[in-house]
Amino acid sequence: MGRARPDNPSMAILKIARLGNPVLREVARELSAAEIRSDTVKQLVQDMKDTMDDYGGVGLAAPQVHESVRLAILEFDADEERYDVDESQPCLVVFNPRVHVLDATLAGFWEGCLSVPGMRGHVERPSKIRIDYLDEQATPASIEAEGFLATVCQHEIDHLEGVLYVDKLSDPTSFAFTEEYSRYHIPDEDDADESD
Ligand code: ZN
Repeated sequence: MGRARPDNPSMAILKIARLGNPVLREVARELSAAEIRSDTVKQLVQDMKDTMDDYGGVGLAAPQVHESVRLAILEFDADEERYDVDESQPCLVVFNPRVHVLDATLAGFWEGCLSVPGMRGHVERPSKIRIDYLDEQATPASIEAEGFLATVCQHEIDHLEGVLYVDKLSDPTSFAFTEEYSRYHIPDEDDADESD
């Protein structure tokens, strides 16, 4: 995704669990403040960032790398060519996140998932949310999100509940391979394109 990666000898690209792996269907457990501040979890976050970069995703939840804990990361660039994104989102790391809907009006996006490679599906979600979470120092924090960011956040936090976007397709008959999506399902102007 065009981001610089430090020359880190401990960098690890993790294996991503794919649809059908039971770890994706578990409800992930919360992490304690002590765990969040531990070297083990710091290394997991770094490895998840490296993995997300390597796979070219915009978000990654810990269950996707076989760690059933309530941790997700997301990051995207406004100039990312595959997405219709207006604003960049610097890397956001959330522990034990809770979603509060601020505007229940549904917004539809074509979503993808590194655990469901090569596929796209249209999903409608609440258009504006607030997420309360613990940051990397285990300090309580919150962020408001709408548009593309709101969709990515809800997609990632669903992973912590064992829920995948394929469970929420607004029209299962339009579920498509990426190539066919590009050929037959180009989004309307007010729709966006999301893949993580
Ligand atoms: Zn996903």
